[in-house]
Amino acid sequence: MSDCLFCKIVAKEIPAQIVYEDDDLLAFKDINPQAPVHLLVIPKEHIASLAEATPAQAGLLGKLVLRVKLLAQEQGLAEDGYRVVVNCRDLGGQTVPHLHFHLLGGRFMTWPPG
Ligand code: AMP
Ligand code: ZN
Repeated sequence: MSDCLFCKIVAKEIPAQIVYEDDDLLAFKDINPQAPVHLLVIPKEHIASLAEATPAQAGLLGKLVLRVKLLAQEQGLAEDGYRVVVNCRDLGGQTVPHLHFHLLGGRFMTWPPG
């Protein structure tokens, strides 16, 4: 998707602080962090939101979730705990229409969210 912000980060047309990359996935620091650790983990393939995900993408989505887990370990979050957030479409608070998992940690996360 040529005018998608996160596709441009995947294409290295826009800079980001990348912390992990493989053939299918990219993880980078959120530009407006809401916790001491705030990463975004995305599929390189453009999927507009979780609502657009299909069974054909089950393998990719499984890889993504397990990568979030490994990044949490690498960031030193696993023992104390962390939060993973996926905002979906307008009422979910999604502002960038390219599927992304927020990995948040390093502070106590309150519930419920606003
Ligand atoms: P969401 O509201 O769930 O769609 O989350 C979008 C996230 O992308 C927000 O937390 C933003 O701070 C973050 N964001 C927006 N632009 C950039 C950027 N250029 N680099 C890194 N993170 C960004
Ligand atoms: Zn995209």
